[in-house]
Amino acid sequence: MSGLEIVGVILGTLPLVVSAVEQYANGVYTTKRIFDYDKQAKRAFTRFRTEQAVCKNQLLQLLPSGSTGIVGIRSQSEGIEDLWKNPDIGHAIRTRLKGNYAIFVDMAQEVFGFMKAIMEILGVTLDKVLSGAESKMMKKIKFALKRGELRDLFEDLERTVRSLITLSKQALELETTAVFASKYRRPEFSVVRDCAEGVYSILQRGWEYDCRVPHTVSLRLEARTNDHSFDDDDDLRKSLKFRVIFSHTHGETPDEKSSWHWKETDVQLIDHDRSDKSEGEASSVLQEPISKKGSKKSVRFTPEAKEMIALQEPIFHPTMKPIQDLCKSIGNLQEENRTGCFGFLIDAEKKRRCSIYSLPAKGINQEPWSVVSLASMLRRITRSDRLNIAFIVASSVLQLYRTPWLDETWGKEDIWFMQRPGGQVDPAPFVSRQFSTPQGTRDDALRCTNVARNKLVRNPWLFALGVLLIELCYGMSIEDLGTSEDGGSEGGVASSEFFTALRIAQDDGIYTEAGERYGDAVRRCIHCDFDQRVTNLDAEEFRQAVYDRVIASLEADWKQFRAIA
Ligand SMILES: [Zn+2]
Repeated sequence: MSGLEIVGVILGTLPLVVSAVEQYANGVYTTKRIFDYDKQAKRAFTRFRTEQAVCKNQLLQLLPSGSTGIVGIRSQSEGIEDLWKNPDIGHAIRTRLKGNYAIFVDMAQEVFGFMKAIMEILGVTLDKVLSGAESKMMKKIKFALKRGELRDLFEDLERTVRSLITLSKQALELETTAVFASKYRRPEFSVVRDCAEGVYSILQRGWEYDCRVPHTVSLRLEARTNDHSFDDDDDLRKSLKFRVIFSHTHGETPDEKSSWHWKETDVQLIDHDRSDKSEGEASSVLQEPISKKGSKKSVRFTPEAKEMIALQEPIFHPTMKPIQDLCKSIGNLQEENRTGCFGFLIDAEKKRRCSIYSLPAKGINQEPWSVVSLASMLRRITRSDRLNIAFIVASSVLQLYRTPWLDETWGKEDIWFMQRPGGQVDPAPFVSRQFSTPQGTRDDALRCTNVARNKLVRNPWLFALGVLLIELCYGMSIEDLGTSEDGGSEGGVASSEFFTALRIAQDDGIYTEAGERYGDAVRRCIHCDFDQRVTNLDAEEFRQAVYDRVIASLEADWKQFRAIA
């Protein structure tokens, strides 16, 4: 008998054991007479009798809801054993018990072992209570009671049953907590993503003037898992800020003639001139696909509310006009060394604007900063930073997938860190975009080789995340982790990476190296293993599964490490 089948047998047999002891051989011998020989055995049996009822209820709770329907079981007592043989039900229970599944089965085996020993003494088989040769059996029972055998068996049985109950109870409690957490505490990344996309398209408009030096816009990646405390999407939208660094250089020798090198800012996306809008216009902004939730609500601005909104938003000088040339505005700013909101850019439809806040420069200097890619940092980052980066980047994938900020084939070369003059490398990850180069030319060569891989990958953004998690775990690039056995030479470099990732995700090594949660996160990303039919991040259910099974795990790992360290 293997796996969960034993649980079905236990459930079917438990009442049999109880009734056999209580009314042995059709009431010829009463419990009282049996236990007259050993009061302790009687107490052990009484405890076991109570425990077995709890055990039965607890084990039945492990069954997925509606499972009695799956196998056509009419009542709880009928066909209970078959229920545990059903592979679908087995899978559901395995999922519920997670890492404790093997222990659970071992315990069940143990319970069954004790039950078998008791039944043997009592002369009970799985089918029926033996009625013949009572006197001979009674002698056997008396002997077992005298030697304390039955008492020991009942005590062992009771103890193991209790552990079994605790284990399944914990599994269900954890599940409830996870469901609770996932239901009420998931941040609205679709709103963040919509805003990030808006920020990109508006910022792009600021560089339309000819300047010889390329402009790079770097967006700081944020976990944003605490952004769930807002009652509605609009409140979240209003509170969202993006840390953006503008630069005239990108790891290259700075242009001496440039008026500025780096500017650190906060950028906020706001509905343009919200207070002056008629309701019709306001809802047309809200009706963009991602904010469906907001469009259902009818928003009415009372005069008081208008004033409140005006106060919350940055106060613009009446003559302040939208920024036309961001490069020039930043140049002027450097000279004045001003902080706070220095202007806004507006989108083509004049529906949304980006307010740009200058941050105080830490020590005035005109020296260029340096940028370092994650690819070049891999071997040098501490475990703590690796866990933090893994968590932030994973969370960012849900915020930035299919926006201009993140390519489908993103990787360690796309994640950057900043190093201020004379300072350490700041561990906050960024993604960077050059606005003066036409989009689409950048990675064309790379994209071609990745076509083959993409055919095999169910979700490229998550696959890329899985690869990065592997690289962060080992502090090595996926190329360096490859072996000749990974193969894929016919399919090009990208395919061999694919096979390396596949091998590592199946390997126990990643679990040993990074632990259960991290290992599971890697496996899920690489295999797109989320138990979902749709594997498109636009599907809310899939996105939630990714959040619960990858991001929440990485967050837990990072928090745990930080607590210990
Ligand atoms: Zn410029």
